[in-house]
Amino acid sequence: MMASQMGSLNALEQERGNPFWRRWLEGDLASADTTGRVYCGLEVEGLRLALRRVYTRLKRNKALRGRHGFSVLIVDGHESSSSYLRCCAGCLQRHIQTSGGERIQYYHRQVMALLSLDRFPLLLDVEDQRHGEDEIAAALRLLERVLHYYPRAFQVVLGDALYLRANMFQLLLAHGKHGIAVLKDETRDLWQDVCGLFPLEQPILEVCGRTERRLWDISGLESWKSLKVKVRVVRSLETKTLTRQRTGRKEKQTSDWMWATTLPADQVSASAIAQLGHDRWLIENRALNEMVTYWHGDHVYRHHPTAIIAFWLTLFLALNLFRAFVSLNIKPARRARHTELYFAKVLFSALHEETFHNRSP
Ligand SMILES: [Zn+2]
Repeated sequence: MMASQMGSLNALEQERGNPFWRRWLEGDLASADTTGRVYCGLEVEGLRLALRRVYTRLKRNKALRGRHGFSVLIVDGHESSSSYLRCCAGCLQRHIQTSGGERIQYYHRQVMALLSLDRFPLLLDVEDQRHGEDEIAAALRLLERVLHYYPRAFQVVLGDALYLRANMFQLLLAHGKHGIAVLKDETRDLWQDVCGLFPLEQPILEVCGRTERRLWDISGLESWKSLKVKVRVVRSLETKTLTRQRTGRKEKQTSDWMWATTLPADQVSASAIAQLGHDRWLIENRALNEMVTYWHGDHVYRHHPTAIIAFWLTLFLALNLFRAFVSLNIKPARRARHTELYFAKVLFSALHEETFHNRSP
């Protein structure tokens, strides 16, 4: 259902007459209702172990290569669904001002962990944000599990500005890992400290295509007191030259980036930190936005706390297998001619065709 982008249990139920299921399941396909009910009581650890098995197999087959020579884990929060009407025991709540007065909105938020790889992002795990906690509390729970299941899968964890927290970095350092997080809070001592130092340092100039990058790299900063470890800040002031299509005029666009990290300067260059930092956007777009736009990631198949997590993990498994298949089994020449979505459609048509030909008149 997920790999062929059907998008609902009812759409899957339409395919029940397909002999494909008898061959593969050695029995009938369950009804939409039964599948939903089973997912509410599913033991999700089994799905996590299945995800790890896929990772281990790909690793053994040497099919996993990091980007820019690093194995990086990206952690990010995502709001998956919201409703004024439906709620469950796992729903978060917020008060929203509407034209009809204040109303309670119910919603779900998850934190996801994925490996940034050169061929495709490998989705590893997901954790629900619970009542009364923030995203970091859920992320810490997620990271502890990921560190346990995948102790050697990554060297660095990358997160947005929210992840610049002492407890997050301490957990990583305790496991021999490093963190990179966006630094943008002007009220932080670290931000003020490092901004005072930039005018004293000569930036490195780098030109990459139409982007000119001035890089500052300052190590040994002690102003993040709660971490009790010296940190390094990399700043990238980037100027991109764009040509306006209508007027043909050249325009310059500037953006200013800062990342705080525990990665030592003698091991990883400032340029690599900036590249890894920017990768977060690319991966977030590829992994999260695509999952929602094309793979029905936000669809609530069954509104129940266990079912929601179990369906996310099933989607992770389906996408990892599907992407591994497309990038490793299909001949490069054929793969280059088509998008990933094309192969999902081929999968669906193959399945659907079999149903169509076998339907009794
Ligand atoms: Zn709910």
